Amino acid sequence: MSNVSPFQPKLLSKINERLVLRMIQERGPSTRSEMSKYIGVTFPTVAKAVSSLLESQLLEEIDDASAGPGRPAKRLRLASENSQVIGITLSGDECTVVAGDLNGTVHKESVLRFPTPATYELLLAEIETCAKSFISSSGKSTLGVGVSVPAVIDYGKQVAIMSANLPLVNGKSIGKDIQNLLGHECVIIHDSHALSLSERLHGNAKELSNFVMLDHCIGIGLGLMVEGRFLTGDSGFAGEIGHSPVVLDGELCKCGKKGCLETVASEWAVEERVSKLLGRPVQISEVLELAQGGNLEVMQELERMCDYLAIGVAHVVNILNPGTFFIYGRVFEACPKLFDLLVEKTEELALKPSVAACSFARANGSLLDGTVASVINYLTDSLVPNLEDYLSSLSQGDSQNSIADETLVPS
Ligand SMILES: [Zn+2]
Repeated sequence: MSNVSPFQPKLLSKINERLVLRMIQERGPSTRSEMSKYIGVTFPTVAKAVSSLLESQLLEEIDDASAGPGRPAKRLRLASENSQVIGITLSGDECTVVAGDLNGTVHKESVLRFPTPATYELLLAEIETCAKSFISSSGKSTLGVGVSVPAVIDYGKQVAIMSANLPLVNGKSIGKDIQNLLGHECVIIHDSHALSLSERLHGNAKELSNFVMLDHCIGIGLGLMVEGRFLTGDSGFAGEIGHSPVVLDGELCKCGKKGCLETVASEWAVEERVSKLLGRPVQISEVLELAQGGNLEVMQELERMCDYLAIGVAHVVNILNPGTFFIYGRVFEACPKLFDLLVEKTEELALKPSVAACSFARANGSLLDGTVASVINYLTDSLVPNLEDYLSSLSQGDSQNSIADETLVPS
């Protein structure tokens, strides 16, 4: 390998900063010496990267409690005291605004919820009020904002293209609109992708680069993580399993088509059927209370929901052959036996070798954590969006440390 780096000094600086952040994200607070050793670059290179990250308020310096006598080394950690990010989750019935640290911790005391308003303008007004209360009262610098939306998203243009369950965002550049109101950069993320990020950072997908996340809520979505990246398809529509047809000439779906999976296996489909059964409007929270209380007719409706959901899950297993399939949804939290039923039904329907190779697990992550994680990812990955590509083009089969030794020269 040549000792001459193929990259411009500015890009090299950014790569070094990203490597410092990644080390702290993976290993926790570290000293400059530890970083120099671990990343494999000189101390002055690390010092320069750290100084830039301190300036942009992504890192904070703390005393090294473990240091012995003599002048204590300083440790660097992801900012929590002086900086924050704002996460916003939107759904058809409720919206939430939270503040979080750069290490992904959501401040439990900084959570505001409100029922989803009837118009886009009212939604923006509520978001502005809640977010500004965190921005002005915390005494911290706000570095960015993320909003998760139950919609097909054009990530390139940052536009919510289509949402069957929150149609007021259709065609809206909601990230840009929030950015204009708050004066801070705002990224948007599909809610199934936010759940996948949360599982990867805080849940059981930490070591996984290939997995599927079924997001079962009012609607049904799918997060597809392939080789550590989201599979979004050519136009961002990948994963829209809720609108796959499963019933010929079935009920009308909110997307305008007939017989979609959502018409028989979503929360709203269950709400409609149980409401008909009881002769009055019933929401999913009450459906679950009735099921937990032993109402057999309501439980039968939920089991029927699982029968249909298993068809969708089996399709995904057959098409994608995932190693791990996470299932997220309050239905499965409230009635764990429905998760077992869903897996059992899927095993009956999917191809034997594919389903035998797939582990099913209930998701541990949350939409709020995932939305906060999306802002942090944006802030850190935007330093070098294609870090892995750069590293692999540099490595040519060598270990990362030797790459850094030879090519990430002080810049
Ligand atoms: Zn549909």
